Amino acid sequence: MQTGTAHLFIPGPTNVPADVQRAMIVPMQDHRAPEFAGLLGPVLEGLKPVFGTKQARIALLPGSGTAAWEAAITNTLSPGDKVLMARHGQFSTLWAQMAQALGLRVEAIDVAWGAPCPVREIERRLGADRHGEIRAVFVTHNETATGVTSDVAGVRHALDTCFHDALLFVDGVSSIGSIRFEMDKWGVDMAVAGSQKGLMCPAGLGILAASPKALDTIAGSTMPRSFLDLHAMLNAHDAGSFCYTPPAQLLHALRAALTRLKTEGLHNVFARHHRLANGIRAGIAAMGLQTVAEHRIFASDTVTAIRTPQDVDAREVISIARERYNTHFGGGLGPLAGKAFRIGHLGDLNEGMCLTALGIAELSLKAAGARVELGAGLAAAQAVFAAHSPAPALAIAAE
Ligand SMILES: *Cc1c(COP(=O)(O)O)cnc(C)c1O
Repeated sequence: MQTGTAHLFIPGPTNVPADVQRAMIVPMQDHRAPEFAGLLGPVLEGLKPVFGTKQARIALLPGSGTAAWEAAITNTLSPGDKVLMARHGQFSTLWAQMAQALGLRVEAIDVAWGAPCPVREIERRLGADRHGEIRAVFVTHNETATGVTSDVAGVRHALDTCFHDALLFVDGVSSIGSIRFEMDKWGVDMAVAGSQKGLMCPAGLGILAASPKALDTIAGSTMPRSFLDLHAMLNAHDAGSFCYTPPAQLLHALRAALTRLKTEGLHNVFARHHRLANGIRAGIAAMGLQTVAEHRIFASDTVTAIRTPQDVDAREVISIARERYNTHFGGGLGPLAGKAFRIGHLGDLNEGMCLTALGIAELSLKAAGARVELGAGLAAAQAVFAAHSPAPALAIAAE
């Protein structure tokens, strides 16, 4: 038996705040009754600023982020279409695999895990695509496996520079709600999110935002689709419901979570993630460890992947943290298995939680044989937090 609080520092699912948990304790309701629109409507409207859009249509798809990945593809493209994407981590690699499995021709650019989406190479490939074969460019905004954030605006600029009219699809599963995301400004055509990361809800909803241009391509797409048919879902949303039985509790949770984001202010939410991430990064550096992210400039504000010393198995660090300290870190994915562990620092989080993460990381690393000086990481993070104080506590009105 473990006592005390279990500390969840995985990059999703993230901690669900108490008021969001309570919002789910409601009786079952009739999703065909007119009142249901009174729940769905504010959720769809509340998501728009989080995605940075006024003009996109948003669909809620039962499933997870992966379902929204699939819906982005199957509602707009056709088998044999060419898509361009970089593989620089587990999630970008999986999205490429899915595109291939669905019959797309994937032009993949392989770059180091730890590097961002290579904007100049994307621009070069688009420039070389004289016959306009590339139908879509896929970007993983925040590679959760490596802790790297990519420059989506830069990819938009590359498309514009080449006068290329490919669609721009962006995976924002671990960024939307935590890091600035500007769907309209960046000209993103399909933006993908999930309920369980920055949006602080349980898993169970894929969220897909589609630009007017993306919506225009639906009619010409010949991919088979049924459960994740976007037109059908948007029509159902217009009528105040879903095409099938919705996970109503998740909508109650999402409404409460969106209220929190709005009350804190998105600007403050992003600033908080940046401040906390800076503390984590300073702590890791003071322990003498390297991040998987190759440069600070593109280090993610929502997750940090940390390389363990050569002779220390990261899996050992993770199991010590779990078994001795009731604390959960993310594992190294794919080729990083055993070589890295991850601290998720997104969602409902504060300085104290980050200090706990660093303190437990130091204890676990030391127990696994790493030469870390206990307290060095903590002190470095404390120095960052001391120099950058948080916004005054925000009162969230109880519903
Ligand atoms: C978590 C994650 C996914 C997968 O989302 P699921 O909700 O687990 O399907 C996809 N992309 C990124 C960047 C993620 O972090």
